[in-house]
Amino acid sequence: MQKILISLLFITSLCHAQPEKPTSAEIYHKLEKLNFLGSALYIAAHPDDENSRLISFLANNTMARTGYLSLTRGDGGQNLIGLELRELLGVIRTQELIEARKIDGGEQFFSRANDFGFSKLPNETLQIWDKKEVLQDMVWVIRNFEPDVIITRFDHRSPGSTHGHHTTSAMLTQEAFELANDPNYEAAQLKFTNTWKPKRVLFNVSWWFFGGKDKFDKVDKSNYVNLHTGAYYPLLGKSNQEIAALSRSRHQSQGFGATGERGDDMEYLELINGDALKDKQNLFEGIDTSWNRVKGGKYIGEAVTVLLKSYDFKNPAASIPALLKVYSQINKLEDGYWKKQKLKEVREIIAACSGLYLEAVAEQQSVTPGSNLKVRWEAINRSRVSMNLKSLSILPHDKVLPQNLLLSDNAGHGTTIDVQLPKNLSYTSPYWLTEKGTSGMYKVTDQQKIGKADIIRSLAVVFTIDINGVEIPFERSIVYKFNDPVKGEVYEPLDVIPAVTTRILNKVQLFTSNMQQQVRIKIKAGSDNCKGSLKFELPQGWQVSPAAIPFDLKTKGSETIVAFAVTPPDTPTESIGRSVATIDGEEFDREQTIINYPHIAPQNVLLPSTAKLSKVDLKIKGEKIAYVMGAGDNIPESLKQMGYNVSLLTPEAITSETLASFDAVIMGIRAYNVLEGMAFKQQVLFSYVNNGGTMIVQYNTPGKHTVKDIAPYSLRLSGKRVTDENAKVTLLDATNRVLNYPNKITADDFKGWVQEQGLYYPDEWAKEFTPIFSSHDKDEEPLQGSLLVAKYGKGYYIYTGLSFFRELPEGVSGAYRLMANMIAIGQ
Ligand SMILES: [Zn+2]
Repeated sequence: MQKILISLLFITSLCHAQPEKPTSAEIYHKLEKLNFLGSALYIAAHPDDENSRLISFLANNTMARTGYLSLTRGDGGQNLIGLELRELLGVIRTQELIEARKIDGGEQFFSRANDFGFSKLPNETLQIWDKKEVLQDMVWVIRNFEPDVIITRFDHRSPGSTHGHHTTSAMLTQEAFELANDPNYEAAQLKFTNTWKPKRVLFNVSWWFFGGKDKFDKVDKSNYVNLHTGAYYPLLGKSNQEIAALSRSRHQSQGFGATGERGDDMEYLELINGDALKDKQNLFEGIDTSWNRVKGGKYIGEAVTVLLKSYDFKNPAASIPALLKVYSQINKLEDGYWKKQKLKEVREIIAACSGLYLEAVAEQQSVTPGSNLKVRWEAINRSRVSMNLKSLSILPHDKVLPQNLLLSDNAGHGTTIDVQLPKNLSYTSPYWLTEKGTSGMYKVTDQQKIGKADIIRSLAVVFTIDINGVEIPFERSIVYKFNDPVKGEVYEPLDVIPAVTTRILNKVQLFTSNMQQQVRIKIKAGSDNCKGSLKFELPQGWQVSPAAIPFDLKTKGSETIVAFAVTPPDTPTESIGRSVATIDGEEFDREQTIINYPHIAPQNVLLPSTAKLSKVDLKIKGEKIAYVMGAGDNIPESLKQMGYNVSLLTPEAITSETLASFDAVIMGIRAYNVLEGMAFKQQVLFSYVNNGGTMIVQYNTPGKHTVKDIAPYSLRLSGKRVTDENAKVTLLDATNRVLNYPNKITADDFKGWVQEQGLYYPDEWAKEFTPIFSSHDKDEEPLQGSLLVAKYGKGYYIYTGLSFFRELPEGVSGAYRLMANMIAIGQ
């Protein structure tokens, strides 16, 4: 039912590249917004931190231009819908935010800060983020967005009470608030923008900071701004909370589906900085949010007020003559923020009122720089207002094609044009992933790209149309569309891709002896007649043959797999191998990943085509492993690399008979959080252990579980974790079999770990468990719950919060050696 509702009113949010088609009521809603000149910027750290109720309220009720600045793109999170982690998860979460904002009416921004994983305190966060760069970006977004009001999700005064990224976002907001107006701060930005002084900063108070809703109910809120955010919008047919829930439900990778509510609802805000307020229900007190705010704007405000009064819901086109006057008046204003913003708004209102539909569709979904592209354009005016299509301009090279076509009521026009693409056209890929950053920051050197949420797409058509004597340019991105027999019309973005991309099939390849192995690489043609040669580059010590392999792919999209013979060095080492194709002297070193989920637009991601090759001192015992996938991880692939025979088991397939043949059963991450089917299978697993089997359970969160007992003995999960991947590890029981057979484990095996050592450690366990390691974050008490081993009957039960799901796919040797020992414990 919810899906149907979305498609009725927010059809554009499902058809990601399709032009907007607002109804008459939605047009009126946009007209109301045209008459409000004020803006609010919400600031927090991650996708999903934002309060969509407040964002929707500000955008749809106050009618403010409303933005959300998320300092990170959420790379460090987990993924409930697929296997993408780190930067690819960041790409998904970026798109989820963009889709959320299409629903709640906000706009999305990011800084270059990378969500490197959990940190407890702001000073830990700022050891990894570059504070200077994050502040620069916040100031840059503030100077460009010119918020009258800034709202933080978190409290800058309570470090340690929440994620370090959270508190840092609030602390840096206070600094950015002052710096944005300082002309000496980052003066280089002022080539492109102006200094800006927001009126005030407020903290979006939440019960969360008071230890519960009951406690918050008793708090004296007389000093807070209080907003009744439970508004109902008849023009949209929804309550504010219903819109917020739809927006929230875009965060599918985080499992944040939300159910809409109706009725009164309150949000509280505490003034932190800037001008005091008398009226506790008006965030914009002291700011003129009418057209009087702009020099020469008085007439425009009056004209829009008349338009709102006389709007004919059955015939929005009747408003066009007055809207054209408003457009011309705004166009005559001095250049400035509101002129730019409102011109954009009024232009699209005019198109909507006249049923003016414009689109430019490419013949193919992807193109290479320098190639020829056929683009079919369509223009139709569905009103009696006189229109003339003067010209089409093709961006980015601004080639103008004169037209002089009369667009009469409901008569469609369109032809196919040939577009010669520039040779230096940039590839389509998330701009923040083009250059290699650090663990704390993305590298983006072009100032004007910073802050932007989406992939930057340059191919567009500008339709210049004379409407009743007023010339207006309408820009439309060139998209791709096709008819799917099941889904119907499907729109996709147009991608510019390299002539050839490659993928090393094993992202990690383990060498446990000096034996030569094959490294297989897939080559994919980005265009027809893709002919060249491929090299596989490795550091000294490794031997690769042959030196190059020729390829010749006749048709675009076709693929071939080639293999290089690789011999490792004698000593253990971890190296990066790089695949480089050459066509006519030009090198191509990118791997293409296409991310495709129904709730976001398909994403084309180009990253360096590399893989990790590890020469590891690794012995394994045992052969057959059963893996029960939980919330999703890549560990089965890593286990295969180690030499095991891995079977994926669904909960339904867990029976005493199937288990009997396995040397170990491994539960994927968060299996007991997500697998309903486990409810009746735990006893089957325990009796397998009792009979001599080995069961390894990876981390689960302490929340809701689908089984009563995670372990055969009492075990309490907690939120405790060691976030510093380099934290020193002490061996508590050096003689324990898990540390000695078949690999001798030492503290050195914890070197080279990535992102975090482990998470959600148990904090209480039965005496049957033996803790194996102790480690801790800086200034914290030692934790011993990272790896707990218990004998149960004839077998072994192991619980571990160590982050194998991050380490194994990164080829971290010590994690492989320890995993091998856990599997071998009963052998
Ligand atoms: Zn967060």
